[in-house]
Amino acid sequence: MEQTVKSLRILVTGGAGFLGSNLIEYLLAQGHEVVGIDNFENVSPQNLDYVADHPRFNFVKHDIQSPLDFVGEIDQIYNLACPASPIQYQKNPVSTLRTCFIGVDNLLNLAQSRGIRILHTSTSEVYGDPHINPQPESYWGNVNPFGPRSCYDEGKRVAEALCYAYREQHGIDIRIARIFNTYGPRMSSSDGRVVSSFIAAALEGKELEITGDGTSTRSFQYVTDCVEGLVALMNSDYNNGPMNIGNDEEFTIQQLAEIVVELVVEMTGKPKVTIVHRPPVVDDPTVRRPQITLARETLRWRPTVQLREGLRKTIQWHIEQGGISRAK
Ligand code: NAD
Repeated sequence: MEQTVKSLRILVTGGAGFLGSNLIEYLLAQGHEVVGIDNFENVSPQNLDYVADHPRFNFVKHDIQSPLDFVGEIDQIYNLACPASPIQYQKNPVSTLRTCFIGVDNLLNLAQSRGIRILHTSTSEVYGDPHINPQPESYWGNVNPFGPRSCYDEGKRVAEALCYAYREQHGIDIRIARIFNTYGPRMSSSDGRVVSSFIAAALEGKELEITGDGTSTRSFQYVTDCVEGLVALMNSDYNNGPMNIGNDEEFTIQQLAEIVVELVVEMTGKPKVTIVHRPPVVDDPTVRRPQITLARETLRWRPTVQLREGLRKTIQWHIEQGGISRAK
């Protein structure tokens, strides 16, 4: 994995979020200086408690829908700012689209004016409910442009198109990571994302609710693998187009639920909770698995954390939080 050794000043938007806060921790550990930006739309400021006093960390509360001219000298931009769970991005779908278009436009402008590289975090949701499995980067997707999820799915697609346009028209040095389901410590347990919701419910002794019959599949990537993939992509020479960053092991939602229930019993001695099924969610993809050949070959990166190992770490973190959710 090619990685930078020089100390840089790096801007991370969405820095108070699940992935952003883990990325900031990693970049600081590498010796970089980090400027974090977040509007705290979807998370509480407590997510940054662990780095708040770090001498190489600065934070600015700001919405990327407004220009970022105030940012001092920087060498790289990671854009992670965007509501990421269906509950969060559907609360204010117009704002979600604005963050994806106007916000990304502001960041690309910043990259252009400074002549620096920007990595934008896209998503597996650009593939929608895919007709092919696994999904390679060359697949154009099957997305509903007029539905409850379209503010996010189409927002992320237009953001990719904007990155492409800036690269072609202005020669901006862009990286696009299409991230697949990622989980781990600091992911809010109340924003409806499946892994943290299951863990929180099992720890609270509540039923695990599966929407649909449980046969839908997902591939779950542990957060450290994702962060290492993002940093490797940022520091690689690859700017030809989007790159999948995910774990290519596929599980059904039913399997995930059963593993979480089993691990929580094993780690806490609490009684086993039951798994129940609710009606399916509109436009929820039935399969989801990344083809990661491009990342493996280009970055010499690969996910290394197995699902059970990552779930243990995540459950342990939830136990240490005393079940307190840090979401808004
Ligand atoms: P998150 O909700 O924990 O973090 C997103 C952060 O962005 C939040 O702290 C939120 O307050 C902030 N934000 C939202 N709109 C903003 C705005 N207009 N200006 C400034 N800050 C804003 O989500 P996450 O899981 O950490 O996701 C980070 C990025 O990665 C997102 O862009 C998301 O789409 C992408 N992604 C995540 C996953 C995943 O599985 N976690 C998968 C695919 C893509």
